[in-house]
Amino acid sequence: MSRRQQLLDLAREVKGFMPDNEGLALHEIARTVGENNLSGTWLEVGAWCGKSAIYLGSAAEESQSVLYSLDHHRGSEENQAGWEHFDETLIDAADGRLNTLPHWQRSIAQAELESTVLGLVGPSVVVAQHFNQSLDLLFIDGGHGHEVAWADYHAWTPKVRSGGTLLIHDVFENPSDGGRPPYEIYRACIDSGNFVDLTAEGSLRALRAV
Ligand code: MG
Repeated sequence: MSRRQQLLDLAREVKGFMPDNEGLALHEIARTVGENNLSGTWLEVGAWCGKSAIYLGSAAEESQSVLYSLDHHRGSEENQAGWEHFDETLIDAADGRLNTLPHWQRSIAQAELESTVLGLVGPSVVVAQHFNQSLDLLFIDGGHGHEVAWADYHAWTPKVRSGGTLLIHDVFENPSDGGRPPYEIYRACIDSGNFVDLTAEGSLRALRAV
């Protein structure tokens, strides 16, 4: 079995909220980015247990690119106890808080992507303030709350270089399918004139910076 197929199989098994078809689309879009631009700098906001980091990381490895995988690893609002996406197996017994970092680390180690996928642990906006590289690929898949989604939009989308690719997850045009903020920031990207639609799969949107 090819290295690529092994990684796609592994990604499918990792805990997360990305359907297989969207994960594959994410991977394919990233491969195209890599084919057109070797040694790129890529970043994802929202790492969770490393699922999308493997879908993207496989493509990053093929193009000698680097993927920064950013998360505070304490879960978003919707992941906390009592909410829809709560998973008690992710609670750290030492302090009773959600902690996805060990799971993320294990996923990246299993995938043997430790030289390609680099973890950034901390609040998105704080990291962004000190991150001065322009991005060839940005994937926004962080918190879905109004404040955090817009904070990610303001902090990170200006860092996508002209011609670079922006991906946003959980974009639901119809409010009955999911929360509004990812859709709102997607609309803001288009309405700003700084991005154009590239392609879409399920709730995944790909845009190009112009
Ligand atoms: Mg998501």
